[in-house]
Amino acid sequence: MLGLPFLVLLFMLATAVGAAMTAIGWRRRKAAPAVAALALLSAAIVAWSAADALAFLVHDAVVGHLLRVIKFIGVCVIPAGFFCLSLAVLDRAWRLPRRTALLLMIEPVLILVMNVTDPWHNLFFLQPDPADPITFTRPDFGPLFWVHTAYSYLLLAVGVARLLRGWVRGPRAQRKLIGAILLGAILPGLANIVALAWGDYATDMTPIGFCVTAVTTYWALVHHSLPEMIPVARERVFDLIGDTVATIDATGRILDLNSAAEHMLRRLAPDLPDRLVGHSFEKEFGGLPYADGGESDLILTDREGRRLELNVRTSPLHDNRRERVGWVMVIRDVTAINGQRRELEQANARLHEQLRTIELLRADLAEQAVRDALTGLHNRRHLMEELARLAAECALQGRPLSVALLDVDHFKQVNDCYGHGAGDEVLVRVAGWLREAAGAVAGAVAARYGGEEFVLVLPGLDAVAAGARVEVLRARVAAEPVRAGGRPVPVTFSAGVACRTAGQSLEAGQSLEELLHAADEALYAAKRTGRNRVETAAVPDAHASGTAA
Ligand code: GH3
Ligand code: MG
Ligand code: MG
Repeated sequence: MLGLPFLVLLFMLATAVGAAMTAIGWRRRKAAPAVAALALLSAAIVAWSAADALAFLVHDAVVGHLLRVIKFIGVCVIPAGFFCLSLAVLDRAWRLPRRTALLLMIEPVLILVMNVTDPWHNLFFLQPDPADPITFTRPDFGPLFWVHTAYSYLLLAVGVARLLRGWVRGPRAQRKLIGAILLGAILPGLANIVALAWGDYATDMTPIGFCVTAVTTYWALVHHSLPEMIPVARERVFDLIGDTVATIDATGRILDLNSAAEHMLRRLAPDLPDRLVGHSFEKEFGGLPYADGGESDLILTDREGRRLELNVRTSPLHDNRRERVGWVMVIRDVTAINGQRRELEQANARLHEQLRTIELLRADLAEQAVRDALTGLHNRRHLMEELARLAAECALQGRPLSVALLDVDHFKQVNDCYGHGAGDEVLVRVAGWLREAAGAVAGAVAARYGGEEFVLVLPGLDAVAAGARVEVLRARVAAEPVRAGGRPVPVTFSAGVACRTAGQSLEAGQSLEELLHAADEALYAAKRTGRNRVETAAVPDAHASGTAA
């Protein structure tokens, strides 16, 4: 037999540990219902072990009776607490329903009443309470005690059975937690069986055993309930994601699917059963390429006739022997996204078209800025730019540059006799001849100088060569009447040619205005001497002009 001081110490220790566990559990009761159940269990341990510890010390019949009443409150609450703990550990979402709480309270209250009134009916203990509770003799239990014991064992057995089932079938992450609680429950179970067999105060170590249960459970809750969250979280993620996820077995039956998948499948097929798990996917949606693996895009019509664009990704599932046991399928509704993409592409195409039009308009404007509208030749402004460019080029290369100024003879009369329209036709025809003439000389430019006056810039040709070319053109024009206004119109022109020779640099020689002026003088001379003629300006002497300046 164990010594009295040791027993007192042991039960006081259990009281202290129980009290600490109650305090911790109560403070953290909101963290999980399992922690709240643990607080209840620990409080019951405190009642039991404190009453036992005091019973060793106080030798008074009335106090002894009172302590036993308190002890049995704890004894009755422990199975209820353990029962709640088992439910809370197995299901994180579990909350103690009011009805269950009331039902669980019935037995402890009845036993409390019967214990208080025991001296009058002796249904709990057959013999009156012995004056000295530590006689180390077995108290004679009454029928009510055995009813209470059977009820308590039943409740504990239900809790243990549920935990065992959870340990075998539940998610792996939960196993360590359940295992720790079950191991912790072995000790109080054994202690209670021993106490019932040899029953006296000294051998009933049950509250100490439950103390171990409480501590191991708390430790397991802190250390092992976090991984337990993972499958729960995964399940939530699975259900919360917008993509459709479904698992299909090798025979084409649906094994699992999330809310989005359920919604999508019901959108596609009108008469699906309430429960889709186990239903044949192949029979219902054989058209979906679930068995192929990889990724594909589909266009379907839902039951309301709306177009549905789907992106289907399938991945085969294999067992340990690498045999295919099914598929996982992820379907994304890409209708909206594709619609947006198409709109964007269309907007982009419109923008490109607009940009092209703007570019064409800009090019057209640029062309208009340099061309004469009637004849299509370069206009006067552009002529001056081209002339400056060609003059610089020729000066650099040491080549001559000639300019011919052409004026249609008696053009006013053409207008007067044949009409302004016919006059325009004549100008267009003359422009055509000029263009041809310019085309025959590399780098030559033909331009409309204004009204019925034209300019030919002939780089590389000296005055003689230029004069000869213009003469050829004059003879050709004079020989061939222009058909204008449906009638042949005789056309001639007079021209003045001026040349800047190779030796004249831009600075030392004539300015371009002077060159054009010289050509104009020559033209005037041609007019004066009878028209339909080509006159060449005298070449100014560079040295002479240099000394004159
Ligand atoms: P000359 O032999 O001395 O050059 O006589 P001309 O009649 O050709 O010279 P004048 O300068 O007197 O007349 C030029 C005419 O050219 C006057 C104008 O009405 C006409 N003219 C100028 N531009 C155009 C045009 O674009 N179209 C038409 N049809 N006529 C034009
Ligand atoms: Mg004129
Ligand atoms: Mg004229």
